[in-house]
Amino acid sequence: MSQHLKTMINTLELTCPSPEQRLKVDWPNSDNYQIWLKRDDLLHPIVSGNKWRKLKYALLAAKHNNVPHIISFGGGFSNHLHALGYACSRLGIQLTAIVRGDYSAHPSPMLEDLARWHAKVQYVDRQTYRLRSDADYLAQLSLTHPGAMIIPEGGSQHSALAGVMEIIDELGRSYDHILAPVASGGTLAGLIHATRHINTTVTGIAVLKGQGYLEDLVTELLPSATKPGHHWDINHDHHFGGYAKSTPHLSAFCAEFYTQTHIPIEPVYSGKLFYAAKALISEGAFTRGAKILLLHTGGLQGARTA
Ligand SMILES: *Cc1c(COP(=O)(O)O)cnc(C)c1O
Repeated sequence: MSQHLKTMINTLELTCPSPEQRLKVDWPNSDNYQIWLKRDDLLHPIVSGNKWRKLKYALLAAKHNNVPHIISFGGGFSNHLHALGYACSRLGIQLTAIVRGDYSAHPSPMLEDLARWHAKVQYVDRQTYRLRSDADYLAQLSLTHPGAMIIPEGGSQHSALAGVMEIIDELGRSYDHILAPVASGGTLAGLIHATRHINTTVTGIAVLKGQGYLEDLVTELLPSATKPGHHWDINHDHHFGGYAKSTPHLSAFCAEFYTQTHIPIEPVYSGKLFYAAKALISEGAFTRGAKILLLHTGGLQGARTA
C-alpha cells in the first residue's frame, strides 16, 4: 500500500478490511444455503460503505495532485455527498455540493452535516440537476471553478471500479452468488469486473424503477460486461415503487431484521437488498447448498429524519 494511501486511511480513521460474517436468520429455506455478509457498513461510521470504495482512488488522486476543490452532485439525503463532505473536510479539500431541490428552509441532517464540514451547497432545480452529466454543463463548471475535480453523482466513475474490486480481493472464501443493491451502477460494475474470471454470479437488486436503464448504466461504466464470461443480472422485483419509496411492510421487515440479527438496515438500499434476498432464498431461486454473499453497503445516515 502506498504511503499516501496509508496516510489517507489513517486521517479518515477507516477500519479495513471490513468484516465477513455468517448471517443467521430464520427465513424459509435459509438452512439450505450458506449465507454470508460483507459488512462494508462497518468501514466507517460516516464514510458510508460503498461510497468509500468508489471515492478511494479519486480522493487519492486529489491529494496526490493537490486538488484544492471538488465538485459533486446528489439529492438532499445523499450518502455520496455525506461521505465526500466528511472526507473533504478531513483531507482539507473544499467541497461544492450541487444539490437537487431547495432545502434551504428545511435542511436535512445530511445537509446540516455538510454545513458543519464547511462544504459549499448550491441548490439547483430539477431541470438544472438533469444536466449533471451533460458535457457542456460540466465544461462550464470547470471554467467557473478552475482546478476543481468534478466527481459524478454517486461517485460512479471509472476510477470507482478499482476501489469496488477490492471488496472481492478481501474475501476469505469463494461464493456462488453475490447480491448488492444497485442505483447508479458503479458498485455493480466493479463487482462484475472483479469476478470476471471466477464462477460467481453477481446480482444487483434494483432500488429504483429502472429496467433497462440500470443495465445501461452498468455497461456504460464497464462495456466488457456484455461479453461472454461475465455472469450478472439485475433483479427488478423489489424496488417498492421507486427510489427512496418504501411501504409499512418494508419498514417492518427492516425493524424485524434488526431484532433478529442486531444488524441495522434502512429502507432505501440495504432494506431492499435483504428483503429481496429473503424472497429469492424463500422461493428457492438458488441451487441447494449455494454459498451466497450479501454486500451490506452501509448508508444508514440517509434514513435520518430532520
Ligand atoms: C449509493 C448507494 C448504493 C448504490 O450504489 P451504486 O454504486 O450507486 O449503484 C447502495 N447502497 C448504499 C448504502 C448507497 O449509499
